[in-house]
Amino acid sequence: MVLKRRSFIKTALAAGSIAMLPNTIFAVPNTRKQRRVVIIGGGFAGATAAKYIKLWGPQYEVILIERNAQFVSCPQSNLVLGGTRSLQDLTQDYQGLSDKGIQTVQAEVVAIDTDKQQVRLHDGVEMSYDRVVIAPGVDFIYDDLPMLASYQAQQRIPHAWKAGPQTALLQQQLHSMKQGGTMVMTVPTGPLRCPPGPYERACQVAYYLKHNNPTAKLIVLDANADIMSKKGLFKAAWQKYYADFIEYIPSNAIDDIDVATLTVETEFDSYSADVLNVIPPQRAGKVAELAGVINVDQRWCKVDFLSYESIVKKNVHIIGDAIAAKLPKSGHMANAQAKVCAAAIVSLFNEQLPEQQPVINNTCYSFVDNNQAVHVAAVYRYNKEQQSMIAMPGGGVSDAPSELEGAYANAWAKNIWADALS
Ligand SMILES: Cc1cc2nc3c(=O)[nH]c(=O)nc-3n(C[C@H](O)[C@H](O)[C@H](O)COP(=O)(O)OP(=O)(O)OC[C@H]3O[C@@H](n4cnc5c(N)ncnc54)[C@H](O)[C@@H]3O)c2cc1C
Repeated sequence: MVLKRRSFIKTALAAGSIAMLPNTIFAVPNTRKQRRVVIIGGGFAGATAAKYIKLWGPQYEVILIERNAQFVSCPQSNLVLGGTRSLQDLTQDYQGLSDKGIQTVQAEVVAIDTDKQQVRLHDGVEMSYDRVVIAPGVDFIYDDLPMLASYQAQQRIPHAWKAGPQTALLQQQLHSMKQGGTMVMTVPTGPLRCPPGPYERACQVAYYLKHNNPTAKLIVLDANADIMSKKGLFKAAWQKYYADFIEYIPSNAIDDIDVATLTVETEFDSYSADVLNVIPPQRAGKVAELAGVINVDQRWCKVDFLSYESIVKKNVHIIGDAIAAKLPKSGHMANAQAKVCAAAIVSLFNEQLPEQQPVINNTCYSFVDNNQAVHVAAVYRYNKEQQSMIAMPGGGVSDAPSELEGAYANAWAKNIWADALS
């Protein structure tokens, strides 16, 4: 069960760690004996960090603030479009973390004062911290797509790039598309969350069409010059299974969109859709901007990879999709970074140096149909000279899709959900 604002305040009052201010704004004074870590965002990165800080430093107070009542996994959310998973399969609550002694608060963080070391919630509650971990994932950039900035436009043209209601909406649009209809999907230039994700989505849409709407087709308009990840594997799968269903057009960025008619204009042509899925360009979640830690291309946060502390703000750590790194933006990476960050925070509280040579890895599976998957894997080691995480030799991709890899992909998902949330 998520600890809602009222019960959080009750608990905090009982523990003597919260006080009421005259105008019914609540504040947490700095009289705590326990060190406190506040974590913003309960996705792959934030949930894992909360769990491991509490596991490795049970004496510390760990507060996880998440705007949503439940965790919904992006990994496997493309399978909801294909029709082989339901959103319910991908949804979990935060009870497992509450049971470990982590205070889970359902709220939106609207301000961070990094000098006073305080975060403010949407309802005025303020919480002080010794260290804050910012794990907000991505937000979308609508500067070049102003016609899609409103909620109404996104109800007509879903992104489905944050799993949840948007995924359900796109599934419903695809599954009720007229026979012989056209779905158009657009891919932005990177860096973006899950580089193979758009191409896995193409497989899942085509899989659905092949079995339910065999005269329909999918047009993929990619702003990139080519498929960004697992290129050979996706091309072979499209050729083998979906030659009549997927038309892939690279180097084709959006110039304009008519929301009313679902028409996309590019430099070269105009495409009319019955279902239109636009994945917008991305940047670190807004809360990173509120903390003043966005400092790469006005989009991402540069961190010290030994602790994931911001290089511009002390006691502020950033993990997951929001960071600038030569690392893929994946749930697997977010989970791995969170553990390095958690260990570093516990070490720093104990006045010890964090691990000086962290090594992390990434495995990312993509389903090409209902049960066959492919993977890409890599190991990354900290390089002191470059102060960066660098891919080590080895790693690579599958030879071909297989059901065995599909089984591995399902096991991977179960394991990472359990590792982050139970
Ligand atoms: C279709 C798709 C398929 C994918 N498949 C895979 C895959 O197979 N394998 C893989 O490893 N990765 C995959 N990914 C990528 C993966 O989902 C992301 O890389 C991962 O979710 C990043 O974790 P995160 O914790 O940084 O962000 P998130 O998981 O998005 O978590 C961020 C959380 O912060 C919360 N939040 C943000 N701002 C605030 C605020 N101000 N106050 C309170 N809460 C806030 C959000 O509600 C959210 O819950 C996929 C992504 C997509 C879109």
